[in-house]
Amino acid sequence: MTTHVRCGTFFPGDGTPVRHNVTLGIDNQRVTFVCNTADAPPIGLHDSVLDYADLFVMPGLIDVHTHLAYGNAKSEEDIDLYQPLEFRALRALFFAQKVVAAGYTSICAPGDAGQVSLAVRNAINFGLFDGPRVTAAGRYLTTRQGLTDWYPTWIGVPETSIGRLVTNKDEAIEEIRVQVKNGVDCIKIAMDGVQTRDNGELIAAFNQEETTTMVTEAHRLGRKVVAHARGKEAVLYAARAGVDLIFHATFLDDNCLDAMLHSGSMLCPTLTFQRNIIDFTQAHEPAAQKGRPRAVEREYAIACENMQKARKAGVPMLTGTDTGFAVTPYGEWHAMELEIFVRDLGFTPAEALRCATSVTARFMKQGDCIGVLEAGRFADFIAVDGSPLENIAILQDKTRIRYVHIGGKCMQIVERGYDPRQVTDRSLANWTDLYTQERVRELYPARRQLAAAAE
Ligand SMILES: [Zn+2]
Repeated sequence: MTTHVRCGTFFPGDGTPVRHNVTLGIDNQRVTFVCNTADAPPIGLHDSVLDYADLFVMPGLIDVHTHLAYGNAKSEEDIDLYQPLEFRALRALFFAQKVVAAGYTSICAPGDAGQVSLAVRNAINFGLFDGPRVTAAGRYLTTRQGLTDWYPTWIGVPETSIGRLVTNKDEAIEEIRVQVKNGVDCIKIAMDGVQTRDNGELIAAFNQEETTTMVTEAHRLGRKVVAHARGKEAVLYAARAGVDLIFHATFLDDNCLDAMLHSGSMLCPTLTFQRNIIDFTQAHEPAAQKGRPRAVEREYAIACENMQKARKAGVPMLTGTDTGFAVTPYGEWHAMELEIFVRDLGFTPAEALRCATSVTARFMKQGDCIGVLEAGRFADFIAVDGSPLENIAILQDKTRIRYVHIGGKCMQIVERGYDPRQVTDRSLANWTDLYTQERVRELYPARRQLAAAAE
């Protein structure tokens, strides 16, 4: 029983040019043939036909940086503390489906508390629910002062946190072995620390020897490694150790690039997260009060320059968004990264589409079965109303993502609203202002007049 998909425009994802009037044959979840519709095999008695003759058909998009368990969090506490892991897993499944509705058929969940992303991955793989293909990590391996070790030492890194504190190489190896036994697809390392040198450079949380030990052990056990690294030193240590994928790499220099090219480390700039912080943060929000948007804006300019260098040097550039925060909610901004690739990093639209399909597939579990529409691979594809080659931004318009197929199956995602105060925002903070008499007089001049009148 073959499904014949009549494609008006067909973008294969492998670097060959776009074609018109192509038929895609699908059997048992996989593509069986791709040919000109005029030459397509006859339609059998039990076959079906999908008429996408007015649409742009391309491989399903891939976001390699979507944290399934964060739940659109507004605070680190919401990521780590307030919802039980069981609820976070259910919530993650709901949000994973929103990602699918945006045209993303595969994601990597690189660092989540407990076994949340593993559970979602398995529930989808076992056919219990529809959802994206998930490449799953466990908790970030972090150390003192590393990312995810953000609470005071007397609190430490709680069990329900996205991080796991390892304070020496033996603990790191033990955690990697536990995670591999639990079934992770990749190991996540938090390479950045919070300390800086006098010149403002970030100091890596792990040293070179520790980083190399962790990466070697993960590779020995057949797992890829992904690292969060913005600082130059963190990027350098990660690249030298052979980390497969580096997130951000904002402050990379020529040494970092050489090391990345030598070890084959790939790069996911994740600029959507920064862009959204700059563009969306409102003046009253804590992030603005801390001066974050302005600092991020400076960083964004440096990142764009360095990412262009990396692109020219031939480092594979993968697409990801750090989805899962309140500033990057599920299913909303994944394709913004492609617009940034074109507008700020110098990619052509066709190159950006390849980055988000076949290039990003290289990091994914079963990566050689996705990312390209050719015989033998999974029939993961989307049908878009309009051409992203003419305007890459149309991929952000969910009404234009007309059909999403995973393993040939057309996804039917029900649009369902929710109340974030029930689902995510459990933080105990009640006020964002300090109501001294002076501040109250500023805020409520009428009361000041009343008080004056009473005197
Ligand atoms: Zn992240």
